[in-house]
Amino acid sequence: MSVDKNTPDDQTEEPRRRPQRLSEDSDPTHFPGGMDQGGERPPAAARPRTYRPVLICLSGQLRGQRKSLSAPETVIGRSSSADWQLDDSAASRHHVRIDYENWTESHEMPRCFVEDLGSRNGTELNGRVIREREQLRERDRVLVGATLIGFFVRDEDELRHDDSLYISATRDMLTGLDNRRQLREHLRHHLARAERYDMPISFLLLDLDHFKVVNDTYGHDVGDSALCHVAELLRKGCRESDLVARWGGEEFAICLPDTEQEHAEALAERLRESVETNHMVDEGRNIELGISIGGASFRKGDDADSLFQRADQMLYRAKNRGRNRVVFAAETKSL
Ligand code: GH3
Ligand code: MG
Ligand code: MG
Repeated sequence: MSVDKNTPDDQTEEPRRRPQRLSEDSDPTHFPGGMDQGGERPPAAARPRTYRPVLICLSGQLRGQRKSLSAPETVIGRSSSADWQLDDSAASRHHVRIDYENWTESHEMPRCFVEDLGSRNGTELNGRVIREREQLRERDRVLVGATLIGFFVRDEDELRHDDSLYISATRDMLTGLDNRRQLREHLRHHLARAERYDMPISFLLLDLDHFKVVNDTYGHDVGDSALCHVAELLRKGCRESDLVARWGGEEFAICLPDTEQEHAEALAERLRESVETNHMVDEGRNIELGISIGGASFRKGDDADSLFQRADQMLYRAKNRGRNRVVFAAETKSL
């Protein structure tokens, strides 16, 4: 099946539902009980609080990996001699240093600073290139090469629960894909980069066709397995650097950094075909699935909401045109 093109007379079509604004949700890395937003823990235990600065890798292969800071200096980079080694070709060998000034005073709020060590690609703090040593604040984001690192201040006790908290804050529990909030966070970050460096980025919204029938025919548990089956096909069909998320229900979303529309269309078509041809097998039964995909590529001036809305309109159109197809928003070079 070929990729449908959006035609000009379609332009006035309304979105199929009010798209939830991407800014409506809270930060994906807000952990229950975090130190931010006055996140005080219950006063039950009258124990002295001990603070610990923690770096959490938010993207790339090390995603979810954590480093709690307990030394005055922590060097991050590609070198094996770095305190935190990143497997990231865009990072310099010794890329950035985090200073922890009051590291001996665990009862004080940590004073931490970030300084670029003359790296090739520079270091960004919350999307801004840093020129000098800057203080870090809870939930700041530091971009080292292509690796996004979050800075958090945690209570020592909480650290013991970090892994499960991180996972529940960023993953969809059924499929193991990123959850919607995590994808939003990445999308915002990648859009800022696309705008700044004039790089392409594409976005796909995917919705299983007639999924209610699958539930009604085979039961909800089989429906759940079908969602996992599709999640795996999508994950396998994408690159490591693509961000595949369960958007909610039987909908998925994929953010494709550094991907022109032409390539995004080709990928979307491969994904659609993969879902169509790789039937799910349950107790010897062959369960056929179909998926509709709406896509949009970054245009100058886009924000996460506008990109999402265009993809959502295209998904609506894919459904209207008979499902099991890909529809992309027409490229508009003149914008
Ligand atoms: P369409 O082709 O128009 O998208 O039809 P549809 O049946 O897929 O869409 P509809 O919105 O009518 O139904 C979505 C179904 O997805 C109904 C809902 O129960 C099911 N669903 C949503 N989340 C889950 C889930 O986590 N597990 C299971 N098993 N089903 C789910
Ligand atoms: Mg749906
Ligand atoms: Mg559906």
